[in-house]
Amino acid sequence: MTFSITFLGATEQVTGSLYQINAGDHVVLLECGMFQGRSEDEARNYKALPVDPAAVDAVLLSHAHIDHSGRIPLLVRQGFNGNIYTQHATVALCEIMLPDSGFLHERDAEWQNKKRRQRGESHITPLYTKADAEACLTRFRGVDYDHELEIVPGLSVRFLDAGHILGAAVVELIYRDGGRERRLVFSGDLGTRDSPVMRPPATVSEADCVVLESTYGDRLHRNLVETLAEFRQVIAAAREEGGNVLIPSFAVGRTQDLLYLFSKHWDEWGLRHWTIYLDSPMAIQATEVYAKHRDLYDAKFFETDTFRPRLPNLRMTRSPEESMAINRETSGAIIIAGSGMCTGGRIRHHLKNNLGRPESHVVIVGFQAAGTLGRRLVDGAKTVTMWGDEYAVRAHVHTIGGLSAHGDQKDLLDWYSSFRNRPPVYLVHGEPAAQEALALKLRDHNKAAVSIAKLGQRVDLQ
Ligand SMILES: [Zn+2]
Ligand SMILES: [Zn+2]
Repeated sequence: MTFSITFLGATEQVTGSLYQINAGDHVVLLECGMFQGRSEDEARNYKALPVDPAAVDAVLLSHAHIDHSGRIPLLVRQGFNGNIYTQHATVALCEIMLPDSGFLHERDAEWQNKKRRQRGESHITPLYTKADAEACLTRFRGVDYDHELEIVPGLSVRFLDAGHILGAAVVELIYRDGGRERRLVFSGDLGTRDSPVMRPPATVSEADCVVLESTYGDRLHRNLVETLAEFRQVIAAAREEGGNVLIPSFAVGRTQDLLYLFSKHWDEWGLRHWTIYLDSPMAIQATEVYAKHRDLYDAKFFETDTFRPRLPNLRMTRSPEESMAINRETSGAIIIAGSGMCTGGRIRHHLKNNLGRPESHVVIVGFQAAGTLGRRLVDGAKTVTMWGDEYAVRAHVHTIGGLSAHGDQKDLLDWYSSFRNRPPVYLVHGEPAAQEALALKLRDHNKAAVSIAKLGQRVDLQ
């Protein structure tokens, strides 16, 4: 019987993860993510899904990030009525992230329709709504790490800790027919060897085929020790100059890394002199999910009996009023807010208030895509535009690397090295330059048969 994978997204690019698995007569989707970033990529989300949703028997999801999960509401609305299997914590994170994604699509459509009306154009409907996203949540089935589960006849799945964000998994697929066993391993997004919170990625020793992410296939991250030293210096400088510290941050993963590092280095970094604001309802909810799943990591940074991070001067501001009250603080505030690339969210209000002050410090801890406000700050722009107005940048802008949730080239090579039988590997989730650099290393060092997966390509496991 057939056992195959067809690459339907995240080929030669980082987003839009979608793979079709054929196991005998059954069709299973692995991931159903959104294309994100450039507008021509995002336009692809509006095209018909390349599979008939009603013909899909089950969905497997490696983790909650929207580029892996974001088209599940569409799939369900268009007729998929099977189960979606993923790790328990991923279910909890999707319960926050998918409705939020639906809400953002609604708001986006509303904003575009306002402009379209003025131009006399017909109105558009959102890709999906918050209600669509809520409806798909009933299909989710939480699974423990390392537990093997048969999802369609002959095909079993096992989720292994990928160390990337809470609940993130390496997905191992085992197809058994006629006494024969074939194994396909998808890395999902792999974490780093020295992630502050998450455990290192679990390894697998055998497979017939490996599908490997390659986001940082051409890069080595800065080590954590240097990163921490930089953080300490920035906080000391900001205290001396009497300004605020602004940290644009992704709600899931990076924010919890920061909370953990703050609680761990509390004394050393002089944090008692500051008020730390977590100014993002999404990040607050995601932090609660982390608190409820303390068994999935070893880092300790929550009060024993509560969902509160162990930081006495942490203020978690949910309401817009509480958020606006932070505007009155001109010094002594460390403000963590979204969005991570400053493309929206509350961080923009804080930037508006602080960018003009030479004593303010903006700390960039995450990847900033080309064309975003965050990227302009990283590139040293002297002025930036928000809501149509220009603002001078007099604040210090620091870029602190080394906190990535993605493994670098060494992490990816090490992970592949654990396969004793050197299975053929297909690279996904990477820009072409990163993929070529990683492919070269894998061939040189591991003698692996490497291919860069192409859109629509089908690989049969013989
Ligand atoms: Zn991810
Ligand atoms: Zn990803």
